[in-house]
Amino acid sequence: MGAGAPTIAGRTAWQILRLPTAEQMFVHARGDVFESTDPATGEMVAELQASTTADVDEAVGAAAAASASGWASQSELRARVLYGFAQALRADADRLAELLTREQGKTIHEAHIEIYGSAKMTEYYAGLARVVYGRSAVLGDEVTGVLLREPVGVVAVITPWNWPLTLLVRSLVPALAAGNATVVKPASITPAITVEALALLASQPGLPEGVLTCVLGSGGTIGEALVGHDGVDMIAFTGETDTGIRVMKRAADGLRKVALELGGKAPNVVFADANLDKALAGAENAIFTTCGQICTAGSRLIVEESVHDELLERLAANAAGLRVGDGLDPSSQLGPLASATQRDKVLEYVERGKAEATLVAGGAVLEGDPYDAGNFVSPAVFADLPAGSSLLRDEIFGPVLTVQRFADEAEAVALANDTEYGLAAGLWTQNLDRAWRVGRAIRAGTIWINTYHHFYDEVEVGGYKRSGIGRQQGLEGLYEFTETKHLNFDGKATLW
Ligand code: NAD
Repeated sequence: MGAGAPTIAGRTAWQILRLPTAEQMFVHARGDVFESTDPATGEMVAELQASTTADVDEAVGAAAAASASGWASQSELRARVLYGFAQALRADADRLAELLTREQGKTIHEAHIEIYGSAKMTEYYAGLARVVYGRSAVLGDEVTGVLLREPVGVVAVITPWNWPLTLLVRSLVPALAAGNATVVKPASITPAITVEALALLASQPGLPEGVLTCVLGSGGTIGEALVGHDGVDMIAFTGETDTGIRVMKRAADGLRKVALELGGKAPNVVFADANLDKALAGAENAIFTTCGQICTAGSRLIVEESVHDELLERLAANAAGLRVGDGLDPSSQLGPLASATQRDKVLEYVERGKAEATLVAGGAVLEGDPYDAGNFVSPAVFADLPAGSSLLRDEIFGPVLTVQRFADEAEAVALANDTEYGLAAGLWTQNLDRAWRVGRAIRAGTIWINTYHHFYDEVEVGGYKRSGIGRQQGLEGLYEFTETKHLNFDGKATLW
């Protein structure tokens, strides 16, 4: 690492983050050393050890032992531990945000939102840890049924790299609140921020050994070993749809429960009667948040004919004016793409788009100082796409927006639903009847009306179609991590 290298709390990042340290004994990793790097500068952020399959066995074994330890019946302890974790995240927010930006590339502003949002969601589930109970029913004369909610057992939590803390917390924390023991496997691009945050949880007084374990390494070896492990009862997976399908097939061998949060290709529909200033700002937020690397990205803007040209022109001008740069620079509005692989994927789609549609803004590799060492691409806007274009169909996961036009409401709905995905959608109109009709007609788990990317811990999210199975956040996000059991008492005890 060169002179002038980024520092975290006054020390070069990799020195502080060589892992695992004494505080990180919940990480089971005795394999090869690997690095995570800063996508803005190419410099090393952290040096870590990967896990071996023996480490996976060890972590799952520790979790299995812990799941029988009484943690499931200690709701006050669970609430206290999780609340303590949330406060630790808040207290350490600046250091964690800096590390998150260093490792993932997102802007420091967004990194702070992610840390504080993770703390807030943890507080929500800390409260719910004391409300995990079932119900009873009188089922005819002298017969009473008691429905219990019990933890599933050992839950494997496999996370992606785009919102590595939010998506960790969204599965891990309700799993713990419900009394499960857990094995976390983060994406190889963002291991250090995950381990550093987990260390705050692991250090909470009273957390039984083995309830939180972590393995590191590639999806193809360590992820696969975890998903296929006999000691794992459930897999909470967030990532690409194709990976999710693979995980589900492998989990099926052991009939393990799965919760899958997968890809998206969200439509964002603007009617001519919308407040166009708000719709424009909403469209930019929808696609350019996290440099387009967000599952709910509003990557398909669908605009009513009479306002299409005006909106496109304003959008192109705004996109060209966005400041792309190192996420640690507070003036940057977009950071780099999180890896060279992701940048190359985005550029491949840009080239396809140039061949078949009209590029109205961006889509260029940014060169010169300070861009040369990073994965910087200017935000791209395409119009005049042919039906069936892969830019309209595939999840690109980058700052690439397609703009289509529609003539009437029926066509708007048809275009919005013309996708294999169904995670989210946006809708801009001042006509309440239309908002209701179109909102009902679009097949997606979340429909934002005159807004975009507003999430609430209390409200479930999840996908229709190829965007997933199950729901996260809210009460349903807690119940995903429980089994129900019916205890039936029959006072008469007459079976026949
Ligand atoms: P990915 O599918 O490549 O990897 C996700 C995780 O799975 C990583 O930890 C990876 O190491 C692991 N993995 C890879 N192959 C595996 C295998 N065979 N067995 C077990 N684990 C394996 O996804 P990514 O590139 O990290 O993340 C981007 C994707 O995640 C996008 O498709 C995005 O839409 C999706 N995503 C969805 C949501 C949601 O809530 N629906 C949220 C964020 C991201």
